[in-house]
Amino acid sequence: MIESSRITLREKSVYNNINFLRKKLGKKVKISSVVKANAYGHGIEQIVPLFEKAGIDHFSVFDYNEATRVANSLAAPQSIMIMGWISDNNVKNAILKGFDFFVFNNERLLVALEHAKALNKKARIHLEAETGMNRSGLNNQELIKAITLINDNKEYFDVQGFCTHLAGAESISNHFRIQKQIKKYHKMLTLAEKSGIIPQFRHMANSAAAFVYPKTRMDLVRIGIMQYGFWSSAETFIHYLGNKAKRIDPLERILGWDSKIMSIKEIKTGEYIGYGITFLAQSDIKTALIPVGYSCGYSRSLSNRGRVLIRGQRCSVIGVVNMNMIIADITNIPDAEVGDEVVIIGRQGDLEIKVSAFSDISNELNYEVLAHLSGKIKRTIIN
Ligand SMILES: *Cc1c(COP(=O)(O)O)cnc(C)c1O
Repeated sequence: MIESSRITLREKSVYNNINFLRKKLGKKVKISSVVKANAYGHGIEQIVPLFEKAGIDHFSVFDYNEATRVANSLAAPQSIMIMGWISDNNVKNAILKGFDFFVFNNERLLVALEHAKALNKKARIHLEAETGMNRSGLNNQELIKAITLINDNKEYFDVQGFCTHLAGAESISNHFRIQKQIKKYHKMLTLAEKSGIIPQFRHMANSAAAFVYPKTRMDLVRIGIMQYGFWSSAETFIHYLGNKAKRIDPLERILGWDSKIMSIKEIKTGEYIGYGITFLAQSDIKTALIPVGYSCGYSRSLSNRGRVLIRGQRCSVIGVVNMNMIIADITNIPDAEVGDEVVIIGRQGDLEIKVSAFSDISNELNYEVLAHLSGKIKRTIIN
């Protein structure tokens, strides 16, 4: 466990975001809460119980391990859907535990059938159609084969879903490609339904698609980034604002990240600071050492560019980001003391360091910054 910094999760912002999503998406659309990559860095064990309290009863993860972590974090059994990796052996355990999983090729379907037979228990599957992303999914011919296999073994399959994934709904430049994918999806769905396969949930939308292409909502939407309080891109937010009179963001960021000043130093003009010669003191300055580095998820590309908040003021990160430490210039805060709070992400006083400010400098996506936050940092829930 890393104790030199802590991640805070604001509970009321969870409810704010889920309520907003539910209101906008409508009662008929099920929200599957995407909690892959340790719940976008927020921490599966801490955030899943909050989403559950907010009324979420369907969760999506990437792999089997995450599915078991979600299951262990829930107060009551809820649907858990594995969208990606499961080892062949864990396909058996997934069926046993009643996890849903994507069938993105016929190899997966055959493994599922074998285990379902051995266990004499239905596999809860989502047929994933390849509609143009060219990443994962069954193409037309593979789908026809899958349909035959499922129809020949109806007692072993519960077709929970028929789905696809869109290749970049957050950017208007992909508009044409997305429209093609939506058409293709409906063709393939019709093929399945005409062959007697009626999925409970038809789904394809992630956060961006759910808002930019409302028709893609269908029965279920897989919402990741928005429930954590972020828009998928500036474009999706602008699209949402449209002509609204109030230009305010209805989402609230849940996550904050803070640490403390570990040590303070006075540095004379002409001295280099930290490793190498990337920062030369041009005047006498005062520095604060902060126990956060790239091993916690503070990107090295923030060297000499990052900002932190101390005593309500913005301070520059100087020198290179170390594995476990950064140095900030606190010359303008004469009364700063060892032990003072340092905000890495979040608010302090009137100022805020946003994940996007962070990601703009480091050239990472919000998604990336969040996913890099070490799972070993302690998570604390706050009001
Ligand atoms: C990650 C993911 C999502 C969620 O995407 P957001 O942009 O975070 O809403 C939905 N579907 C699939 C298949 C995903 O991998």
